[in-house]
Amino acid sequence: MNYKVYFKNYLEKLKDENLYREIPLFDKGDSKYIEIKNKKLLNLASNNYLGLSNKKEIKEGAIKAIKKYGCSSSASRIVTGNFLLYNELELGLAKFKGYEAALIFNTGYVANLSIISAICDKNWVIFSDKLNHASIIDGTLLSKAKHERFRHLDYEHLETILKRYNKDVKKLIITDTVFSMDGDVADLEKIVKLAKDYNALVMIDEAHATGIFGKGRGLAHELGLEKEIDINMGTFSKGLGSFGAYVCCNKSIKDYLVNKARGFIFSTSLPPAVIGANLAAIKFIKENYQLGERLIEISKKLRKKLNEIGFNTLNSSTQIIPIIIGNREKLQIAKDFLIESGLYVAAIRPPTVPIGTDRLRLSLRADLTDDELELIVEGFRKLKERI
Ligand code: PMP
Repeated sequence: MNYKVYFKNYLEKLKDENLYREIPLFDKGDSKYIEIKNKKLLNLASNNYLGLSNKKEIKEGAIKAIKKYGCSSSASRIVTGNFLLYNELELGLAKFKGYEAALIFNTGYVANLSIISAICDKNWVIFSDKLNHASIIDGTLLSKAKHERFRHLDYEHLETILKRYNKDVKKLIITDTVFSMDGDVADLEKIVKLAKDYNALVMIDEAHATGIFGKGRGLAHELGLEKEIDINMGTFSKGLGSFGAYVCCNKSIKDYLVNKARGFIFSTSLPPAVIGANLAAIKFIKENYQLGERLIEISKKLRKKLNEIGFNTLNSSTQIIPIIIGNREKLQIAKDFLIESGLYVAAIRPPTVPIGTDRLRLSLRADLTDDELELIVEGFRKLKERI
């Protein structure tokens, strides 16, 4: 085996299929604006939905924690990497989200891998929306549970699959609450009902809803469904402008995870600065939850304008707006054209999304001004003429 050739061939094949990924490099940026070759672009591709990553209060939370505890936790939580601040964050978060307990994980990706593989084994069946995040898929594969994927948001299909299993089989239904590629939302009421009828545990991923829906507490809170959702996972890295992830659940599930979740047990805990920032972010969002409401309002208005121009935005009802372009060649032209108009928008291709649905994806922020919103509308109006 010539390993050099092996890797080279793999990459060449990706290039031939137009699927090769590169890490974009920005010269400068404060996350709202980024610069490429001295061109300042409005950043419509980040997850800093509320603009909190640069908020004074949150930066100060990080600085205070560094001054008191240093730069590293230097060990796993279950060894010596646990300080008062970490417990304070978990207690505050559980109260904020309306749960008995909370546990912090290092990233959302690790949280999903660790939680799912700790709870499920080959004797479980996992029922998962087809558009759930990659970390949910990877966690399911790691768990060795039987993987049943239902069509996106199709709860009749979910019920058809649930019916195939005996009541005694251990079942976990998992869904994102806000879907990261389509910007639509799960129907949690239907999921909770099915879980009751078929005796299943429910897990949700609130990564894109945290800070935005339910006065910052997520979609489950907005719908008053916390009591019916057993495992409520989310991240600090998007709406809350910081880093890391959490799960809210009851005390016994938390203790179970502390004993079984390998990504929690075998990894150095988050640095104190991140915990300090997360605490400050929760405090900030409690007092400024209107930011999320403004974001949803802006998104609705902009989506309407994009639809009027003639763009298909699927069933998006959130700050994530997909704009279906159709094929790779057109998508690249569209992305480059928007850069010329001062807008940086993510281009998403298969296999991340189904073939033929190559799309631009807008991730909006609550602090967009009227002028910036007008710039977006104008950019897309001209794009429509161009393609
Ligand atoms: N879940 C969802 C739905 C996500 O979109 C993401 C990040 N894109 C994650 C989990 C992973 O979170 P993190 O970036 O903190 O690893």
